[in-house]
Amino acid sequence: MKRYNERFDAYYDSTTKEWLESKCDDEDCDYCPNRPDTPPSFEKGDRVLVLPNNMEATVINQRICYDGSETFWGNVEVKYDDDVTGVSNSWQLKMIKENE
Ligand SMILES: [Zn+2]
Repeated sequence: MKRYNERFDAYYDSTTKEWLESKCDDEDCDYCPNRPDTPPSFEKGDRVLVLPNNMEATVINQRICYDGSETFWGNVEVKYDDDVTGVSNSWQLKMIKENE
């Protein structure tokens, strides 16, 4: 499915997990130089099941992490249905429904 990531202003395919747009050559670009090689696993508004507590929640944001020159997608901020917010490892979340 074609999805849009606001942080890097680019489209990707969530099935193949590939960006659909190549990076530009502008070193001062706000987006491309820090864009991870793979697109995010979750977007704002996605409905997920938080496996450790077996509760459904809505994704607020998937954090970007930096390790030296490497950029990657890290933990996910979620909001439970009772308005409590939390942070989960991305591999502990199961997608229920993508936000369209
Ligand atoms: Zn760019």
